[in-house]
Amino acid sequence: MTSVQNLIKRLFPHKIITHRLSDLHNQLLQQSIDKNDIFLSIEKENKSRQFCCLSIEELLRLFECCPTTERTLYESISINKPVRTYIDFEYLIDKNLNIQNHYIGPMCCLKVLYYFLNAPDDTINTVERYTENILKQFLVLEASTTEKISYHFINVNPSILFESISSLGIFIKAIIRFLLLAIVKHKCAMFNMDIPIEQFNNASNLINQLAPFIHTLRNHCRQCNTSIPYVSIADIAYLLVQNRGNEWTLAIDTNVYSKNQQFRLFNCVKYGKNNPLVPSTTFPFHYQLEYSSHNLLKKSLITFMEDDHIPKVYLNGDKFDINLSSISNRITTFSYNLININLTNQHIIPLTFSKPSTNVSKSRTPQNLIHFNKINHLNSSVKDIQLFLNFVENIVTSEPSYQGYVHTCVRGIYNKDLLFFNIAEKLHEHELATKYPPFDPLKFEQFFVNFRTTDSTLIHLIDQIKSSTVFTLDTESILIPYQLNKPALIQFQIILSESFSSVVLIEMCHLPRAYEHTLTLVKQFFQTLFNADKNIFIWGDSRELHNFCSYNLFTCDQLDLCNPIDLQNEFKTHWNKQHPHQPTTSASINYSELACELSQWLDKCRTTSSFDIGLDRTLYHFNSAEIEHYQSLIRYAVYDFLSMQQIILKLKLIEHQESNINPSNEIITATLNDLTDMARDDDQHDLPTTNNFEPISPADIQADSTPKRQQTLTKAERRPIHNRTSILKQRKRYYKNEIIISNIDRRFTIKQIKGIIKSYSVPYSAVKFSTSSTTRKQSVHIGIRSPSQLNDYQHQIDHLFTTSHYNRFINHQQTYRSSSKR
Ligand SMILES: [Zn+2]
Repeated sequence: MTSVQNLIKRLFPHKIITHRLSDLHNQLLQQSIDKNDIFLSIEKENKSRQFCCLSIEELLRLFECCPTTERTLYESISINKPVRTYIDFEYLIDKNLNIQNHYIGPMCCLKVLYYFLNAPDDTINTVERYTENILKQFLVLEASTTEKISYHFINVNPSILFESISSLGIFIKAIIRFLLLAIVKHKCAMFNMDIPIEQFNNASNLINQLAPFIHTLRNHCRQCNTSIPYVSIADIAYLLVQNRGNEWTLAIDTNVYSKNQQFRLFNCVKYGKNNPLVPSTTFPFHYQLEYSSHNLLKKSLITFMEDDHIPKVYLNGDKFDINLSSISNRITTFSYNLININLTNQHIIPLTFSKPSTNVSKSRTPQNLIHFNKINHLNSSVKDIQLFLNFVENIVTSEPSYQGYVHTCVRGIYNKDLLFFNIAEKLHEHELATKYPPFDPLKFEQFFVNFRTTDSTLIHLIDQIKSSTVFTLDTESILIPYQLNKPALIQFQIILSESFSSVVLIEMCHLPRAYEHTLTLVKQFFQTLFNADKNIFIWGDSRELHNFCSYNLFTCDQLDLCNPIDLQNEFKTHWNKQHPHQPTTSASINYSELACELSQWLDKCRTTSSFDIGLDRTLYHFNSAEIEHYQSLIRYAVYDFLSMQQIILKLKLIEHQESNINPSNEIITATLNDLTDMARDDDQHDLPTTNNFEPISPADIQADSTPKRQQTLTKAERRPIHNRTSILKQRKRYYKNEIIISNIDRRFTIKQIKGIIKSYSVPYSAVKFSTSSTTRKQSVHIGIRSPSQLNDYQHQIDHLFTTSHYNRFINHQQTYRSSSKR
């Protein structure tokens, strides 16, 4: 198999191919390149990329020699080059089952673009003529599949260009704001909403406000016109779609206008896929004329301009303006003044402005780092990092009322050129950082479960599970490109008293072998745990846990038995009650909320780390730098769900009495400091047992199932937790108004059912299973938040969860999982 980069080397032996775009730019500085040369990014395995620069003739030659399935080519869009207008439009079909006609959204998008990029023309007076004109100007490339709607719209015969990708980005965002406001401000028999004007500046706020009405808007506002010809309010509502997490968002991806953007080329594929971006047959380009694929390729390039006599939109201060210097004809000049630039100008959002520094060397001075005191994690080996920091800082501080702040910045694991910024509000974060001490977990003892773990440790842990009813559980997976996440770690906490717990890290990639007795004990361990009488709190997605069934330590049936409690949901409900003016909008809670709630600071920079490497330091030989790295991974894994315990206490899901007040110094517990000390104290690697604590002899266990250490706990710490009642009370409340669907397919998990109910916009409070003692048939009980509409909701969902529904659902899931975003 010949890869594209090998082909380039063969065809054009003198070409430079680099692993980093910045290296390519640096090396090309010495050569003279034509401004029309095209920067290409070549996608390879593991989503890594290489970069090179070709002339248009070379690119055409490359296309001739390279079969489509090998063409993993992207156009790398330089920040300072003029660009054609382009849009990336996509959404998942199975998340938007309410959309019956998938052409309305794309067509609406095209009409809107055409309107903003052209002068009004009275002679176009039918929708057919209008569409015809649009398709003379826009090339529509399509890579839709059965699970995804995916288009690129490219303004290939433009009236105007944009001076740079960033001015295009701001222009598109202004248009989006115009559209959202058109919906919000319109009033009709079906829609009449008063949204405070201060909400207008935030697109995601507006979308959230509109979310409950989107179905109504699509179905009833077809006659509600806008100032854009042939575009109704209903049409605009098709631009709002639900994403993977069922959150409402835009089908137009506004992230494609950032720096170093790479846009897939015409007739090219993603690595390992076979769905090339081809001209859409539904929206055929200029259908009276035949275009060669060479011609289409040329036209579809975002930065390649055969004709330089096209005016360019640029940002003049905080307004768009048109640079007409390349035009000599006065009449055309006049008509350009009519382009709807002024309309767009009214909708520029101050927040979208950023002033990327043009003077790179100046901005690299270290003073600029001074107030980024949280940035220590950053490896600044890439020279441009300072520039990115400034860039991000400019964006997040440009609006005085949103004092943005860069919390952390981490580098992508596979693509080292990617930086992930964790941005927060400065005032709030700063307040938190000074007000609250660093995260101080409650006391715990830590165990590893892997092939080194002894029988006695496992027996001890099983006894602990038997004696407790409250557990928190979290999982970590590692990312493998083109595959499902690989389950790596189960973190599990046995809450033994109000302020003392055992923390167990089960290292899935380092389990005992099948014939070993310890593996049987590990299975027994899970069998004891996954039981209906155990309260297991999980943070978020319990489907994650189902992925771990492949290790054969427990089955999906066992998991369904235990009905875990979604702590994230509990927390959200609690948060919304306490902070009605700041609703949580994202599926995952952001950490300033968490910190606020816990009054503590939790550092979350290790999320994408390699949890499969074997965390127990007795497993392999480590040097001290490795130990430090592993300690920080352990710290992350442990803190992550010790924070769950604190949330449980905070939300009073279990009773919390005088715990953790004046903890006695005599209590022997393992805190993280101890762990770190232990990791450093010697270089001895061949420890016989797996946990870092005093080995427990079987005699101890026989004499007393509580190990020695725990006997030294204070009275307060040994007090058992009387939690059942408060949880049961809460459960009762949830199911007061319930819909029961009987005889459902047993393979549905709670998580799946919740997702499906959510997609029908039914506001549930809780979901649980029950099994008939006579017929053994399974039912699902769905607690409903607004009882007045119980009948409506029942009608909407009572046909679901049958076996045929499950089969359809799983088909969707599989195809949906195997697809990946752009
Ligand atoms: Zn309307």
